[in-house]
Amino acid sequence: MIVVMQPGAGKPAIDAVIERIEQLGLRSHVIVGVERTVVAALGEKRDGAKQALETAEGVEKVVPILAPYKMASTEVKKERTRVAALDFEVGGGRIGMVAGPCSVESRQQILDVAHAVKEAGATGLRGGAFKPRTSPYSFQGLKEKGLELLALAREETGLAVVTEVMAPEQVALVANYADVMQVGARNMQNYPLLEAVGECGLPILLKRGPSATMEEFLLAAEYILKTGNTRVMLCERGIRTFEDHTRFTLPLATVPYLHQTTHLPIVVDPSHGTGKASLVATMARAAVAAGADGLMVEVHPDPGKALSDGFQALTLAAFRQLMVECRKVATAVGREL
Ligand code: PEP
Ligand code: MN
Repeated sequence: MIVVMQPGAGKPAIDAVIERIEQLGLRSHVIVGVERTVVAALGEKRDGAKQALETAEGVEKVVPILAPYKMASTEVKKERTRVAALDFEVGGGRIGMVAGPCSVESRQQILDVAHAVKEAGATGLRGGAFKPRTSPYSFQGLKEKGLELLALAREETGLAVVTEVMAPEQVALVANYADVMQVGARNMQNYPLLEAVGECGLPILLKRGPSATMEEFLLAAEYILKTGNTRVMLCERGIRTFEDHTRFTLPLATVPYLHQTTHLPIVVDPSHGTGKASLVATMARAAVAAGADGLMVEVHPDPGKALSDGFQALTLAAFRQLMVECRKVATAVGREL
């Protein structure tokens, strides 16, 4: 349920509502809006709870939250959530661009990419140190050494580091280096991991599982939100379909659909979404036109020599060109990149 407070309801009235919610055995979550404050009462349905809250002082009305994802829903919060780390920002005025290699491979590689993407206008640097690879024989990432190199690249460029964490026991280590914790597609429904990243308090980039429905995606986000961490970004990275001309199928209707259903910002990853370098820039432009709040793009100084996902990585020059083109689309749709 959502307890909608009267405009101007003061702290004592809000505190009394919170107390009543907790007495009912429910969890409270306060959202301070521009016009009024609402308090979400979360948990199993209780007889008489609605009436008990409706009669509290300062309450205008009590309405049910119909969506199963309570805190992520636009029913609870209409204003878009802005998530920021250093200069990387999504959900506010500007479109955030995270670019970098699939995996951190060497000092030279990550520094070359970081400087180039920064110069082209990216605000975030991606790079996997812990890599979820389909084959156990493939390169698994440089682990802590990779994290150290990402931190060095941040020091040199000021870019916010976005990197994946694969297991709850890695969270403390990765959080020492990352500005944004990435939960990968394969782990979207790893609930202990979602809780652990939520509790670390850093912004989270949650990727959509390749076979997850929108409802499952939003309920995964809900696990993070429920820890009290509201800095969650949703990332569409393509789904598995019968189609095989691309690595995954990138459904861009996700962007306007999620903007209708959730206040969380939406990032699009056209690199994994297509799996083909030649398709990435066009789909990045399409994502901007569809209203994406951010983009995540794989870039490598020498894609042919990449240790992972080279076939979908852009060269530094191709990334510069992508930025120029995406900026034109952003301007055309009244956004800034
Ligand atoms: C990645 O970002 O390199 C990655 C492994 O992505 P996903 O989890 O979307 O497959
Ligand atoms: Mn990759």
